[in-house]
Amino acid sequence: MKIDLHCHSSYSDGIFSPQQLLEMADKERLTIFSITDHDSVKGTAIANREAVNYSFSYITGIEISARYKQEKIEILGYNFNADNPAFKQSLVKLQNARRDRIYKILVILQEIGINISYDDVIKEVGDASSPGRPHFARALKTKGHVSSVKEAFNEYLAEGRPAYVPRLTIEPKEAINRISKANGIAVLPHPLFVEKHDMGRMEKLLDLLVSWGMKGIEVYYNYEYAFSNFSAKRIQEVTKFLLGYCKQNDLLVTGGSDFHGDKGVLGGVYVPKEYILQIQSFFNL
Ligand SMILES: [Zn+2]
Repeated sequence: MKIDLHCHSSYSDGIFSPQQLLEMADKERLTIFSITDHDSVKGTAIANREAVNYSFSYITGIEISARYKQEKIEILGYNFNADNPAFKQSLVKLQNARRDRIYKILVILQEIGINISYDDVIKEVGDASSPGRPHFARALKTKGHVSSVKEAFNEYLAEGRPAYVPRLTIEPKEAINRISKANGIAVLPHPLFVEKHDMGRMEKLLDLLVSWGMKGIEVYYNYEYAFSNFSAKRIQEVTKFLLGYCKQNDLLVTGGSDFHGDKGVLGGVYVPKEYILQIQSFFNL
């Protein structure tokens, strides 16, 4: 059994359309699949409609950008009502903030002598309602300023690099609230990105998120995707800790690849069968 509950379509910063991703999910013989675009439900709504033609179960998904005390804490949402007007309205604010950021990054890149235009970036953005840094990275590569997406992040776009611009986000508490009010459940993605070193700090943060209504943790994740260099041993230790935490707090254990189309494999993250069965029964699939 294989699942993938974390991937991005061309409606945020992924390369493939929802239809193409459904085809891939089918080819990979997934049991459960979800598209979780950044701050956008367009792709997942299309996939949800068309998934009736496939044998796997589809869950409506999203990844909401949030920040807590300057730190980035994204929140995954599943099985919410994507037509909930208040929920949709809240996404508009986040999408506008992403558009504003495009101009800010462009100005910085031009100031440091990188010749790239608004049109170069927009060509990469296409239909996406959530423009993001991967679009910039691809434009920089297309224009020959870097040889890879990874280099674009390392040289310019990553936090701490010259063209990094933080963006207006909401608090994780608010993100969890909005998902819950739209009858969905909130899950913490890639927990190791939230706290890299101190398990005590991670536990405190998890306690806080649980108190706000978080219902699951993406324990299984492709950390290589995001150019992180956690050792296999470190990931194993943290996985063990998180599985214990989920059991203690009655949280769902989920898994996802964060597939964007240019790296990794859809369905490429191993999730043990017992957790897949729990997800199936939780969502009545
Ligand atoms: Zn993601």
